[in-house]
Amino acid sequence: VDEVDGNFVRTVKNCVFSKSLPTPLKGPLRLAAVSKDVIEGILDVDMAVTQSEEFLHYASGGRLLPGSVPLAHRYGGHQFGYWAGQLGDGRAHSLGQYTNRKGEVWEMQLKGSGKTPYSRSGDGRAVIRSSVREFLCSEAMHVLGVPTSRAASLIVSDEPVIRDQFYNGNVKTERGAVVLRLARSWFRIGSLEILSESGEIDLLRKLLNFVIDEHFSSIESDDPDKYLVFYSTVVNETAHMIAQWMSVGFAHGVCNTDNFSLLSITIDYGPFGFMEAYNPDFVPNTSDDEGRYSIGAQANVGLFNLEKLLTALSPVLSKKQRKEAKIILKGYANIYQMRFHQLFKAKLGLLGDEEEDGYLIAFLLKMMEDTQSDFTTTFRQLSEVSVEQLHNNNFTQVELVNITKDECELKKKCNCEKCLTDVNPRYVLRNWMAESAIRKAEMNDFSEVELLHHILSSPFVTQETAEEAGYAARPPLWAERLKVSCSS
Ligand code: AMP
Ligand code: MG
Ligand code: MG
Repeated sequence: VDEVDGNFVRTVKNCVFSKSLPTPLKGPLRLAAVSKDVIEGILDVDMAVTQSEEFLHYASGGRLLPGSVPLAHRYGGHQFGYWAGQLGDGRAHSLGQYTNRKGEVWEMQLKGSGKTPYSRSGDGRAVIRSSVREFLCSEAMHVLGVPTSRAASLIVSDEPVIRDQFYNGNVKTERGAVVLRLARSWFRIGSLEILSESGEIDLLRKLLNFVIDEHFSSIESDDPDKYLVFYSTVVNETAHMIAQWMSVGFAHGVCNTDNFSLLSITIDYGPFGFMEAYNPDFVPNTSDDEGRYSIGAQANVGLFNLEKLLTALSPVLSKKQRKEAKIILKGYANIYQMRFHQLFKAKLGLLGDEEEDGYLIAFLLKMMEDTQSDFTTTFRQLSEVSVEQLHNNNFTQVELVNITKDECELKKKCNCEKCLTDVNPRYVLRNWMAESAIRKAEMNDFSEVELLHHILSSPFVTQETAEEAGYAARPPLWAERLKVSCSS
């Protein structure tokens, strides 16, 4: 831990964390959202506690739990392909680890809790808009079965925060918010890169040993190949994570190495998006002009990031191990393909191991692309339609907006009716849904945030309130030109 005190911006050397106190949000504070699943199931706290005045302060940086030493993490990263040097937690504070009743260890973090030594030109704050999105999406992704950080609560304030809103070029004043978020670990590829790039190799080794001891329990600490095994695990798990993103149509938006977890969980929700009309070129982030992080590029970007991880590890690998690591990385594409294939087979109920399965999946996706079919809706409708309906051949009258005759042939090959609706969600956090909830939240009406949180906690179950709100339908007209920027 950095011994220099104070939250002034600086280049930090020879440490992994800097002590940094949160700057309390200016009141009045309001609890905009809370996850019972996290509060009770992970933090062992009674939900009633979240209704107290005290909770507002603990969950937004105004008060510290006994023994908590808030830290900002020093990391670097490759941003949009280039080494960006020191980045670090510029607006997040780690509050400490909590070991819960189940014996699980979780790291609690505040996001939007003020400046740190890593704030660079930022103000250390997060606005309501991006905080609502992070809260809702991390909880929704968890329920979809995608490895992710979690969100416990969302506190909003009246503190003005200036953000430049891209769509009209005007500077807009928004309001500050803090998300209390949790992950088993917040270490990123960039956590190792900064140490490697700065030649702090002893510290690199120390951090690696720590991460492996804490989070890679199957790796023996005296294994001479342990960094290699670690690398191999991250390669494998990253391929799995990205395949899972693809299986729900999720585009992260900013797949820089500082946003890629060493535990291969989805972290740092920013300008993400769920793809609507199927399109491999879908880019959720308006600031990503070149589409570097388009949904279809994610698998390749994962490879790029893992290459950077290998570069970071190189100083602690022998020549022979570096060679082996390169071979491991060569296996990445295959691991990804296999996982992707497996997940999409499950989405279509293809339980066997037919040679034509891969062709069917590719064919369906191509057809969806040509017809601009909604990704979520198409898979859901394929799972909801019964084989009888297909045999009656009147499938065009069963309100299947996007299903064509060929898709029906495809459906007839599927073996498993029931389980398909457990794999293909009916509801995902579409941009317009989040936007609608955000507009109300900005006026202190949190009802739609709550509704979305509730609906997305059972995304596989058809729900009346969700149908009434049109959440399984195409976006309303007003939402057609919605865009999300990095400025959050
Ligand atoms: P991101 O693109 O959100 O992953 O952020 C990249 C880097 O910018 C990280 O080091 C963040 O902590 C930092 N950052 C983003 N927004 C702010 C802000 N408002 N204040 C300070 N630092 C920020
Ligand atoms: Mg840890
Ligand atoms: Mg980030």
